Parts: sequence; structure tokens; C-alpha cells
Amino acid sequence: MATLELQNISKSFGQAKVLHDIDLAIRDREFVVFVGPSGCGKSTLLRIVAGLEEATQGRIVIGGKDVSRAHPLDRGISMVFQSYALYPHLSVFENIAFPLRVAKLPEAELKRKVGQAAEILQLTDKLQLKPGQLSGGQRQRVAIGRSIVREPRVFLFDEPLSNLDAALRGDMRVELAQLHRKLDATMVYVTHDQVEAMTMADRIVVLNGGRVEQFGTPMELYHHPASKFVAGFIGQPN
Ligand code: ADP
Ligand code: MG
Repeated sequence: MATLELQNISKSFGQAKVLHDIDLAIRDREFVVFVGPSGCGKSTLLRIVAGLEEATQGRIVIGGKDVSRAHPLDRGISMVFQSYALYPHLSVFENIAFPLRVAKLPEAELKRKVGQAAEILQLTDKLQLKPGQLSGGQRQRVAIGRSIVREPRVFLFDEPLSNLDAALRGDMRVELAQLHRKLDATMVYVTHDQVEAMTMADRIVVLNGGRVEQFGTPMELYHHPASKFVAGFIGQPN
């Protein structure tokens, strides 16, 4: 069970407190979107879950186990970075295989896992190409493939579509929803885009100034906003 609990998370950078007592329980296989304006603390919160940043206070619990002190690679979590994090000189195959090479996986098992990921992402006929020969959407899929091969229980996405054009963003939203169904994994997706949040999420966390304004389904937020901020934010897509 890949439930993800954020218990009482606070974070300060020096004197500046950027996260205030964040308490959230995310269900196994749920697709949860963190949404809020720029600077509200979304990336910091995701980095704390991933173990790339240390919380000033609080605990991260995955599948009932406290991982607050665990190394990022031992948390069963994978963070998907934007497509420009690919290695331009390596083939698609080697880009996807990279974490498995680092883990010194036997070649046969490595090939099997990369093949599986490529099939899920419809990249099977692109494996010998270099990232520069791919479209933006295909490059994004390679970045996701690199996460899939590690078989994480929880996927984290930090604004993965923000450098794609509007049409491609729409396609990728649909692809990510399909991927969520295929992989049966818990996913946390960060965006400042209300439309993305409303169309993709099982439940949405609205963040403002480092605090949770509301945690609920898109319909709950739309029909029963907990604050003026939520009403304005959900009501006014940019
Ligand atoms: P978001 O992803 O929602 O745009 P961030 O999590 O990046 O927000 O930032 C939240 C706040 O924390 C901002 O005020 C930002 O300036 C501050 N912040 C983020 N990282 C650091 C850091 N390493 N040092 C100091 N302040 C930081
Ligand atoms: Mg951010």
C-alpha cells in the first residue's frame, strides 16, 4: 500500500517560514494535484517528500513507514523532471536505462525493464534515437520512462509540462491520466495551472502562502470552496 502521509510538515529558510503545519493523507493509487500561485511552497513540499530537502518539523510516512530520515533513493519514490534533464549524447534506451545502470542491474533484466517502460510509453521504435531527434512530448515520455524503470510506489511530478506548448500540454495530460491507470501507482502532481488541476486530479490540495487552503475533489472545491481564495483561484483560470 503506497499511502503517502505528510504529518505536520513545516519548513523555514533562515527566518522565512515557507511551509506551515502541512497535514495531508494521500490514499494508495490516488492522483493528487498540489496547486497554488508561484512561491506558495509547492516545489519545497515536493522536495521534502522526495528527500531532497529536509523539513524543519514533521514526518513523511509512506505505506505506514516513517521515511523522514531515509535516503531519497530508499523511499520508493521517483521524481519526474522536465524533459531537458535528458542526456543528449545517450540514446533513448540508455536514457531510460540510466538508473538501472547506476544500480548495476544485470543486462537481461535491464533490457526487459526498459522494454516494458518503452511499451507503456509507446517509445519502442524510438529506443535507438537521441533525445534531439524526438518531439517535445516524446522527450517528456523518456523522462517519465526513466522513473518507471525504478518501479516506485509513489511518483512525484513538479510542473512537468510547463515548458511544452498548449496543444502538447493537453495531449500529455491525457497520457499521464492513462499512465496513472496502467501503473496503478500513487501520484502527486504539482502545477500552478488550475485547468490542469481540475481536469487531472482525484483530489486537489490548494496551497497559499505555505498553508493548505483546502483538500478535496474538484467538484467539492468548485461547489463548496472553503475560502475566498479557493473560490477566486478555482474560478479564474489563467
Ligand atoms: P513554488 O514551487 O510554489 O513556486 P517554492 O517552493 O519554490 O514555491 O518556494 C516557496 C518559497 O520558499 C518562496 O518564497 C521561495 O523564494 C522560498 N525558497 C525556496 N527555496 C529556497 C531556498 N533554497 N532558500 C531560500 N528560500 C527558498
Ligand atoms: Mg515550483
